[in-house]
Amino acid sequence: MIDTSAFQNKTAAYFTLGCKLNFSETSTFGQMLQNMGVRTARKGEHADICLINTCSVTEVADHKCRQAIHRMVRENPHSFVVVTGCYAQLEAETVSKIDGVDLVLGSNEKANLIQFLSEAWSRGGEKDALHEFHSVQTKDIRTFAPSCSRGNRTRYFLKVQDGCNYFCTYCTIPYARGFSRNPSIASLVAQAEQAAREGGKEIVLTGVNIGDFGVTTGEHFIDLVRALDQVKGIRRFRISSLEPDLLDDALIDYCASSRAFMPHFHIPLQSGSDEVLRLMHRRYDRSLFAHKIALIKEQMPDAFIGVDVMVGSRGEKPEYFEDCYNFLAGLDITQLHVFPYSERPGTSALSIPYVVNDKDKKLRSKRLLALSDEKTQAFYAKHIGRQAEVLFEKAARGKAMHGFTKNYIRVELPPSMAREEYDNQLIDVTLGEFNHDRSALKAIL
Ligand code: SF4
Repeated sequence: MIDTSAFQNKTAAYFTLGCKLNFSETSTFGQMLQNMGVRTARKGEHADICLINTCSVTEVADHKCRQAIHRMVRENPHSFVVVTGCYAQLEAETVSKIDGVDLVLGSNEKANLIQFLSEAWSRGGEKDALHEFHSVQTKDIRTFAPSCSRGNRTRYFLKVQDGCNYFCTYCTIPYARGFSRNPSIASLVAQAEQAAREGGKEIVLTGVNIGDFGVTTGEHFIDLVRALDQVKGIRRFRISSLEPDLLDDALIDYCASSRAFMPHFHIPLQSGSDEVLRLMHRRYDRSLFAHKIALIKEQMPDAFIGVDVMVGSRGEKPEYFEDCYNFLAGLDITQLHVFPYSERPGTSALSIPYVVNDKDKKLRSKRLLALSDEKTQAFYAKHIGRQAEVLFEKAARGKAMHGFTKNYIRVELPPSMAREEYDNQLIDVTLGEFNHDRSALKAIL
């Protein structure tokens, strides 16, 4: 039995590291606490509860998590400190021993945050740091913490899937988030309808390996897409990321003629060398990837295509990187998201003998980032002078307003033309020249 009075009039502060999924989940934790009577602490105000949602994608991420925990504890002495997320799952006991940490909740436990808090407080944990941790083994992670959050942004993030069954050799995510699982299409449609009722116009579908949707319910991702496409009021859906082997040709066909799924794809390639893809245990080769890009562009010539690439992974010999670079240079894609490889304890990549030094990793990143910039600028330049519908986002008073076109071009409205009432509105504009730092095209109303 949860003692709701224990939550009344408390304040909470949140800190999130990592991916969109984590941000979306933190916002849901905030909602759960708010429903119990806890309000978010104002800047500089002491918080009774501190919640840190961690990431473990790289060694640097682990380090940043520890720093964030120390900072939150320092800034909020006597606060009840909860740590959750991927780093908390992977290193639960270590994290629980950090000074000031009360409660560590792994991936299976975080959905029951309120219950864990209530139980800890009933044991008197509000006075001294408890240093408790609750985290089951990866194979036992079964819960799905639903999440559809708006946060401070115009867009909603709807979590449609969690976990991953792929076990790519460099990745710890399956260990941190468990096996793939998902809620039903009906429950996700209900969440999207709720977002529409709250005035939401754009929803981004998030997850760890979204294309794997259906393993729990026996449904298919394309059926989820078809069902969401019918949700009245939601004008735009985006899919945060889809593995190339799970991006069905039928899904591409559907998106090309759908009502609300945008011509915007984000596909993790990781390497453009077949040798490296094999070492990574990725489930496709580059010819499959090239086929997907060609098909998208054939059906949606103006589609924005973002591609994740990892540089300096174990086994990426110089000739393999050159091969990757040339492959990417020849693809009709819009932007590269470049990640330097980071050694992760417990991953099988550590048994690959060839190691890329940091200097080469940096040089490779730099070359790919320059290539990305070239491609993005060319894509933007092609659109100058065209008409486009832009969904504008809230801006601080006196600042330029920004928004995105259907195909994810960032558009800027100068402060003199920005209006509060444009926030969360779809407005037709003509796309003008580049803005001052070439990160957006100027809107002409
Ligand atoms: S598909 Fe591979 S890289 Fe992506 S989460 Fe799963 S194991 Fe990690």
